[in-house]
Amino acid sequence: IVRDRYAPSPTGLQHIGGVRTALFNYLFARSMGGKFLLRLEDTDRTRFDQSFVENLYDTFNWLGMKWDEGPDIGGPAAPYIQSERTETYKKYALELIEKDKAYLCFCSAERIDKIRQEREAAHSKGPSGSHATGYDRFCRSIPREEAEKRAAAGEAHTIRLKIPLGETTRFTDHLLGDIEWKNDDVNPDPVLLKSDGFPTYHLANVVDDHLMEITHVLRAQEWLSSTPLHVIMYQAFGWEHPEFCHLPMVNGLDGKKLSKRHGATSIDEFRRQGYLPEALINYVALVGASYEEGKDIYTLEELAERFSLDKLSKASGIFDYKKLEWYNGQYIRMKSDDELAFLTLPLAVEAGLFGSRGSEPNPEQKKIYLLAMPLVKERAVFLKEIPEKLTFLFREIELPPVEEFFPKKMSREETAGLLIKGRDLIAPMALAASDAEAEDCIKAWAEKEGVKLGDIMMPIRVAITGARVSPPLFGSLRILGAEKSLARTDKAIA
Ligand code: GLU
Repeated sequence: IVRDRYAPSPTGLQHIGGVRTALFNYLFARSMGGKFLLRLEDTDRTRFDQSFVENLYDTFNWLGMKWDEGPDIGGPAAPYIQSERTETYKKYALELIEKDKAYLCFCSAERIDKIRQEREAAHSKGPSGSHATGYDRFCRSIPREEAEKRAAAGEAHTIRLKIPLGETTRFTDHLLGDIEWKNDDVNPDPVLLKSDGFPTYHLANVVDDHLMEITHVLRAQEWLSSTPLHVIMYQAFGWEHPEFCHLPMVNGLDGKKLSKRHGATSIDEFRRQGYLPEALINYVALVGASYEEGKDIYTLEELAERFSLDKLSKASGIFDYKKLEWYNGQYIRMKSDDELAFLTLPLAVEAGLFGSRGSEPNPEQKKIYLLAMPLVKERAVFLKEIPEKLTFLFREIELPPVEEFFPKKMSREETAGLLIKGRDLIAPMALAASDAEAEDCIKAWAEKEGVKLGDIMMPIRVAITGARVSPPLFGSLRILGAEKSLARTDKAIA
């Protein structure tokens, strides 16, 4: 049975890249009838912040993605929080010492720093070859008994992996194929257990993937350079390693790694901008993967049915914000009026549509809001546009400068005259039973008066909604009602 995991370090907000990794793991597990786990890799205590953990739960709750095992719901391999598993890592680090695959290191942080600086300086001058930075394996040659005596006497130490030198490490990546690294080029004898007893990412990650019986590691390609090291560790323990699939990066349209320069990257930000979770999931699943020719819209279930690692592309994915907007619009149109009203009412309340900021709608306002959904559904791209576009129904409008009323190439006087004559149309249009009826009414009038339809529509639109661009006019008049519509027209004429 397939078991995979999303293993974030809570050192930042959840962003597109992380969600994509999680989503691919989720879809892969679902497609294989396997299990998807969440594991918190929170061993970097200097960058840890509880608010990032909350953001993680919040994000996935909003996206509607659930794991089968995880810190919040438990499971057979609990705990799923690395900071609660430190004893386990220590035990395994000691086991590697026992097997002569790791050793105690007493070098001070200052010494390590100095080596790094020296190596960096040498590297920038000389020809590039093996690792420019890293440890010089100084403590590797200390006899084990001596090292253990020093540790027992209380000397601060770390535990380092003893990388077998002169060998080559090979593994196969599902997307990238066979990969080889000379061991001498792998990060030299990395720390497994820090002097404060906390594990490094490498130790905790490998031990947990083994103990949690992870069969597939799908993670971002930025981790690829750690994988030879992990394979060496699996071998040192005598464990089989999981299958690896390193996911191509996500870039912006300019081919550079997706970042703030391109637009929102944290899911919070997308959420605030009024993206729907379905749209985000649908689009993110298609960045660097293809499913069926000619089909764009997929639910999470449909994606899970179709997902396979073979559908992932080797090339980096391109994140196109315009495409995501298109998806968002599509998903807005798929909502029922009730759903859309439910989703956007909080935004309307916040924007002060029903009184002062934060005031809830009264039953009448709520009814009108719901009735108005068809006016905005067809064109909205973001949820927050919806209350914005409906403001004219709930609040007095400010009349724009008089030029705004004029249809192109018409004078102020002509326009005013038109609106005065057209006043008679307002009540019948507002009272019409349908758009078609209202349209017949204004068309007949325009024909009789010899006026172009657009020339009379524009001043009415501005008088009623306060803007030249607005939701459809007939529906707007109907929902605003004859009385208010007339009052606004009169105000405009005056
Ligand atoms: N904690 C790592 C991260 O933040 C996990 C990488 C992996 O999946 O092994 O992405």
